[in-house]
Amino acid sequence: MIQITMPLNFLGTVYREIRQSLVDMGEMFGLLDQAPDVTDAAEAPALKVTGGKVELRDVHFGYDADREILKGISLTAEPGQTVAIVGPTGSGKSTIGRLLFRFYDVSQGALLIDGQDIRGVTQSSLHKAIGVVPQDTVLFNDTIGYNIAYGRDGASMDDVIEAARAASIHDFITSLPLGYDTTVGERGLKLSGGEKQRVGIARTLLKDPPILLLDEATSALDTATERDIQGALARAGQGRTVLIIAHRLSTVADADRIVVLEDGRIIEDGTHSDLLEAGGRYAGLWRRQQSDEAA
Ligand code: ADP
Repeated sequence: MIQITMPLNFLGTVYREIRQSLVDMGEMFGLLDQAPDVTDAAEAPALKVTGGKVELRDVHFGYDADREILKGISLTAEPGQTVAIVGPTGSGKSTIGRLLFRFYDVSQGALLIDGQDIRGVTQSSLHKAIGVVPQDTVLFNDTIGYNIAYGRDGASMDDVIEAARAASIHDFITSLPLGYDTTVGERGLKLSGGEKQRVGIARTLLKDPPILLLDEATSALDTATERDIQGALARAGQGRTVLIIAHRLSTVADADRIVVLEDGRIIEDGTHSDLLEAGGRYAGLWRRQQSDEAA
């Protein structure tokens, strides 16, 4: 009995991990097109992106019927705005990102892009409209050029270089003996966390989506790398609607709006200075982070 259940449990874990990493990888492998719980409505039209407005209307959601994770979230990101979602681990930040991709359907309420309920459009058009820079960019065992070009079918070498420049990774690549032909990934050159993230940014820039979802790395990068990446992300966000799933606060001060999530509810909402002035939860977190950094 034990011999039978153990491998099954193991498979269950692997399956969950695979699904989890699918989410983090965004649409990169096209696998979200096969999202298990969700199908296209019959004759669903493609999403028509006009400005890239993202709207959550009283969204409720739970992974299991008996445990609600999002308990009525209403939130609008206007076209071109950057909205950061902050809050403690487990408050539901990443879940919002997964719902935006329609990896799951909401149990109540709706999620709209430019006024269209995402349940009513094709998933392929939805995934085309949203670019993801995940916490940990997955690299193929292939050249670094290929890894960037993957962002868009038929990208030319010039496009790849332009994206790499904008993501502050071009100089690093050209410093390698084989340049863009350097093999990376498991069997090739191991890239640092910051370099991988920049490859992810370049890939997303090439895709040129109107909406950008940034799942900020949980682990701290060194200050210079962090600053570099912030710059690349800021450039990537220009002219797009950006949602930042922020696991730390360092990156959110410049957002047009910061939403503080706690236990599946929005408890504060405003700009960095609004929230500091309000002296609530965000202000407390910010003070704590400042003193941690000073220490
Ligand atoms: P955050 O990004 O704010 O850390 P998440 O959105 O990842 O939080 O998770 C919110 C809650 O949902 C957590 O309690 C987490 O355990 C739960 N959760 C996340 N993913 C799943 C899943 N695939 N199945 C069941 N529960 C999940």
